[in-house]
Amino acid sequence: MDTKNKTHTPGPWKARYIPHYGSGDVWCVDWSADQEEVVEICHGEANARLIAAAPAMLAALKEAKRHAGCSEDCDLVSGPFFNERKEDLTCSCGAMHLYRECATAIALAEGAINSP
Ligand SMILES: [Zn+2]
Repeated sequence: MDTKNKTHTPGPWKARYIPHYGSGDVWCVDWSADQEEVVEICHGEANARLIAAAPAMLAALKEAKRHAGCSEDCDLVSGPFFNERKEDLTCSCGAMHLYRECATAIALAEGAINSP
């Protein structure tokens, strides 16, 4: 894996339709206001908007992971592993599952793991 360029282009990113480009529904994802800095060119508005939302989603995932905690009625709250972040930990409220899902998505986005 290329270890250079491990930091993504800073957000926010914006999706912009490119009229009369190529042979279809071509969109561009920019990060600069002058539209001179292109992150990606792709097909389809939905794809462009999803890519453009990536920096915000990554930040939200990090925040959700940081605050993932069990509800008061979770079986884990009274258990011996409360506040631990073990990869195999499960609980009745789903907070540990949320934590692992966030951690996996963050690791994918940051290149720590590859897509299956
Ligand atoms: Zn829980």
